Amino acid sequence: MFYLVVFGPPGAGKGTQSDKIIEKYGFAHISTGDVFRANMQEKTELGILAQDYINKGELVPDALTIDMLIKEVAKFPDAKGVILDGFPRTVPQAEALDQILAGENQKVDLVLQLDVTEKEVRDRIEQRAKVSGREDDQKAAIVERRIGEYFSKTIHVLPYYQQQNKVVSLNGIGDIDQIFDQISSAIDARI
Ligand code: ADP
Repeated sequence: MFYLVVFGPPGAGKGTQSDKIIEKYGFAHISTGDVFRANMQEKTELGILAQDYINKGELVPDALTIDMLIKEVAKFPDAKGVILDGFPRTVPQAEALDQILAGENQKVDLVLQLDVTEKEVRDRIEQRAKVSGREDDQKAAIVERRIGEYFSKTIHVLPYYQQQNKVVSLNGIGDIDQIFDQISSAIDARI
């Protein structure tokens, strides 16, 4: 099974490009943000626990997130590939993922980094706020908190995978289809 991590700041286009990957390659998709939001809507125990963090723009604690990820990965035993969108967001999550996959004789095959400037991210989330209905997109202070979490915690995941030679970095600003062509080439070279 091909494990693909789609990596980048909030608003980088991870969801948009994931949709195109699903369409072309038929991979399963695990978006941790989507899973949390569905749980919040259904008021599950996980949703209730996660929502205080999410609505403040903070990362959900690792233990909770990793537990959730284990359950999600187990849902796709026969997939050709799995896209991890929004996970890992901390180095302990990346370490846990390596352990989880090693237990299944699997590994992360590719980490696609969508490189986008902070300014572009702010502009995009401001636009998305008008249509997303996401509470965490609405307030500037919460958006800033999310961007802050990315640059203080999540960015360190990149050297973790660079040491393993797994990262392909792409400019995330530009034509969506042209960015996707580069993503396709990176997947095709490793699949
Ligand atoms: P975005 O990429 O636009 O910030 P997501 O939908 O991926 O949005 O995530 C929304 C929120 O869910 C994050 O701000 C965070 O609170 C929480 N979250 C998602 N994935 C993780 C993760 N791997 N670890 C901790 N918190 C997470």
